[in-house]
Amino acid sequence: MTSLVQVAIPTPLYRVFDYRWNSSLPITRGVRVGVPFGPRKVVGIVLGAIESSEVAENKLRAVSQVYDTEPVIATDLMELLCWASRYYHHPLGDVLSTSLPVLLRKGQLATITEREFYRWIGPSPVPETLNRAHVQRALAHYLEHLSGKLAGADSLARISPRWRSSIAGLIDKGWVGAETALKIPDNKARGSAPTLSEEQRVAVEQVVDSLSQKTAKRFLLNGVTGSGKTEVYLRCIAKAQSMGQQVLVLVPEISLTPQLMSRFEQRIDGCLVCLHSGLNNTERLQNWLCASQGHADVVIGTRSSILAPMPNLGLVIVDEEHDGSFKQQDGFRYHARDLALMRANARQCPVLLGSATPSLESLKNVAIGKLIELSLTQRAGGAVPPSIGLMDIRRRKLKEGLSDRMLDAIREHLDNAGQVLMFINRRGFAPTLLCNDCGAAADCKRCDAHMTVHARTNRLRCHHCGAERAMPSSCESCRSPELDRVGYGTERIANVLAEEFPDVAIARIDRDTTRRKGALEEQLALAISGEARILVGTQLLAKGHHFPKLTLVGILDADRGLFGTDFRALEHMGQLVLQVSGRAGRETNRGTVLVQTRNPDNPLLQTLVKEGYAPFAHILMDERRLAMLPPYSFMAVVRAEATNAHEPHEFLRQVASSLETDKTGQLDVLGPAPAPMERLGGRFRAQLLLQSDKRSSLNDSLSRLSTLIDQLPGARRCRWSIDVDPVDLF
Ligand code: ADP
Ligand code: ZN
Ligand code: ZN
Repeated sequence: MTSLVQVAIPTPLYRVFDYRWNSSLPITRGVRVGVPFGPRKVVGIVLGAIESSEVAENKLRAVSQVYDTEPVIATDLMELLCWASRYYHHPLGDVLSTSLPVLLRKGQLATITEREFYRWIGPSPVPETLNRAHVQRALAHYLEHLSGKLAGADSLARISPRWRSSIAGLIDKGWVGAETALKIPDNKARGSAPTLSEEQRVAVEQVVDSLSQKTAKRFLLNGVTGSGKTEVYLRCIAKAQSMGQQVLVLVPEISLTPQLMSRFEQRIDGCLVCLHSGLNNTERLQNWLCASQGHADVVIGTRSSILAPMPNLGLVIVDEEHDGSFKQQDGFRYHARDLALMRANARQCPVLLGSATPSLESLKNVAIGKLIELSLTQRAGGAVPPSIGLMDIRRRKLKEGLSDRMLDAIREHLDNAGQVLMFINRRGFAPTLLCNDCGAAADCKRCDAHMTVHARTNRLRCHHCGAERAMPSSCESCRSPELDRVGYGTERIANVLAEEFPDVAIARIDRDTTRRKGALEEQLALAISGEARILVGTQLLAKGHHFPKLTLVGILDADRGLFGTDFRALEHMGQLVLQVSGRAGRETNRGTVLVQTRNPDNPLLQTLVKEGYAPFAHILMDERRLAMLPPYSFMAVVRAEATNAHEPHEFLRQVASSLETDKTGQLDVLGPAPAPMERLGGRFRAQLLLQSDKRSSLNDSLSRLSTLIDQLPGARRCRWSIDVDPVDLF
């Protein structure tokens, strides 16, 4: 009798496929196989042996290659991924494939190579002769700071893309020692640890208790900015390690927070690996294998590392759990925080979510007892919280977006040796180029959006699709030369500050100024050392950074968040304002935060700045409850797009009527409606909103939908997707 096997293949189809098994190897769930699929050969994942197939045996094709002897998807992850495929209604083959590093998806062998490690064995402090070789100097300081602990190649690669040739120079001098190993046997960190505050101690104790009980307790560490949440993570990690467990730490974006990484490196024993988009495919595969073979003691990574295999996983930490970047926005649209809760639950290990501005989802979970709240109400080490004030700019003359009182405040702080940060969540010079004669704006030809003016490069750029063109010298509709640059972005604010304060160094930090590899690190170094005394930036500056000298934060465009179209706009505005504010006064000097607004009487804004995040979030919760919006109901969006406006609507109408044929009354179907930005990158987009106050009704409807959606007549004429628990409704 021939053996048959079921294989998951990365396709958009909601089904798995049967093959004949001719190999002498046993059929093992979770190993990769090469199979013929149409005219191609693809890499699929074995789900298991089957007794019989609906396909006639002489029509079944055979597995052509078996790549692994051991599963690349371990049993616990396989279960999590199968669950996620059902929960997010995304095809299993694609879910499984997404969980693997690119090279494994392509069929490369899962072979681990030895890692390189380096340590400082030279004189301390680092000799000044290195001052002119600045990459060597940065590497030397980094290693010397670790006091003899070994650092991996990927830590050094973060310092400079040219680290390799520089480290060779240091090795030649006899100042750096190199070793290679699969796993470093003993690598003690020597960074000093502060004495915990009482609140920190209680928090650590609760998590540690749960570690030793092997119970799946779930915690929310709700601590104001600068309250020492990271310190709590470090203690919990150390404890888990001492019990022989691996720890997974999820962070929003590693490249934005190099400080956090070096702090972990200085304090964590053993082998620390990271998984993020800055790695090349080989590095990613090697780090992933290091985790999956249990060599990595701690894995720090962005969203996708929630799917990294860790055989001894004992604790999962999600830092800045409210952050939108944990939600994958295309393909398999999972939320890493929610998967973290599921994964920890399946492993019966504790999970620790941390934030100064928790998501309403997590606050609701606290209210219904699904999360245990641990509070840090005080800033650590004697620093006091910043004072936040609203600055009424109605009827006041603005100088290029800055009120005279803001300029005065900046001058005062600079005179008192302070450092200032001006926050505006818009890059470029001005968001609109408007004709004074006919009123036409310079629009993107492919999106329903204005082009952003970039003055230094003298170009117009679309921030949605990336289209660019030269700055016109006259109106593109009426040829009038009277063009106005309307509104403000970081470039314009930085220019006016440079004119006002000609002797002061300014660092502008946004996606335009940090595009080049290493540029962000350079700008941040200027900000941290205090060399740049004025910082201008977008949300790249909001999260996690520690600028010791910063005393004044100005928030220039908070009003935009008050009138967003998305139901989460206010929540995000509040989180952003407090996160940016949290950069001020983190050491000895008390910080001041000034929020420019034309709505100084807005009750929500008042609550936020006077009473803080908890009362603010409370009001939003009540509003969500009354409006039956998440987290008080459950949502999914079916999106469709095509090169004309008609097809997506027609297809979504078919989807809507297929959902209505067996109406239980438990599901609201809203739309189809055009997406808030209907045209993007030359494609027309529409969406259908599904909402229910019962998770099970939503899930049942989506299950039915997924069995028939690809057979709807319109399905072939659109690109479509299902998004469960959407974060952004566009
Ligand atoms: P958060 O992660 O909540 O923003 P951090 O852990 O970064 O806060 O702590 C803020 C600062 O306070 C850091 O410089 C940290 O080293 C310091 N710190 C943390 N805990 C303590 C403590 N118990 N005593 C003294 N300083 C502390
Ligand atoms: Zn015109
Ligand atoms: Zn565009």
